[in-house]
Amino acid sequence: MTSTWALALHGGAGAIAERAYKAEEEHMAALLDRGAAMLAKGMSALDVVTAMASALEASGLHVAGKGAAPNAAGVVELDASVMDGATRAAGAVAALQGFISPVRVARGVMEKTSHVLLVGPGACAFARDQEFEKVDDPKTYYVPAESGLPGAGTIGAVALDTSGKLAAATSTGGLHGKMPGRVGDTPIIGAGCWADERAAVSCTGLGEYFMRVNAAADVSARIAYAGQSLDQAAAAVIDDVRKLGGYGGLIAVDAKGNVTAPFASQGMKRGLASSVGLREVKTFK
Ligand code: ASP
Repeated sequence: MTSTWALALHGGAGAIAERAYKAEEEHMAALLDRGAAMLAKGMSALDVVTAMASALEASGLHVAGKGAAPNAAGVVELDASVMDGATRAAGAVAALQGFISPVRVARGVMEKTSHVLLVGPGACAFARDQEFEKVDDPKTYYVPAESGLPGAGTIGAVALDTSGKLAAATSTGGLHGKMPGRVGDTPIIGAGCWADERAAVSCTGLGEYFMRVNAAADVSARIAYAGQSLDQAAAAVIDDVRKLGGYGGLIAVDAKGNVTAPFASQGMKRGLASSVGLREVKTFK
């Protein structure tokens, strides 16, 4: 056990300069303090990122969980993932319909099955069997959050705990008006979510680009193979997304307690905290 911990949260990289994000920032600040207290008390990174992501889903302030928007067929299909850096256990769901917390179902896939990713009807059947909380009436439950740029209201959490373990979680409603069955980077382990012994990463932005640069895992690979710092690795990955014509951002923490949150877009709702006194809640630069 050490006293070093770090935490980062995001609510998507689609923020636009013309709009204020006061409610989102207030909610994120309170949540960040709660998460920081959990880590300082010795709670595991995996439990903290699950709790943080689930609270962001329930807030209705971002395009994930309650704040998700329907696809082109008028149906809300949600994607989520979680990864435990210490064991590299991972779980994810895609095109999940009708459950309150997709990230908790993703954690269930990780812990209760021998699989990593369940999609569509299979994911729903699993969530039903495991008695995850259902949405009573999708028509009244969902309050599509207005994120700004299309498809960048995903939420995520990454943490380093006092045992030196890292974890990441990401959850989204995906792109507004997406084709039925479209799956982005969020539930793809390595693209929208990654955690190992070096770094934990959660991405947001145009998912198709994040999949094509294998964004989240590449942050750790750059640290391992190129000897880059967390800052350098994360910035290079976002630069790759930008060069391909995409936009978005990511949050990442490493095993030393460094935290970074680069983005190539107007803004990214984010909250960063660590045991060395970092506490920042911001949307723009
Ligand atoms: N990355 C998400 C997706 O493509 C969208 C987002 O970040 O809001 O599904």
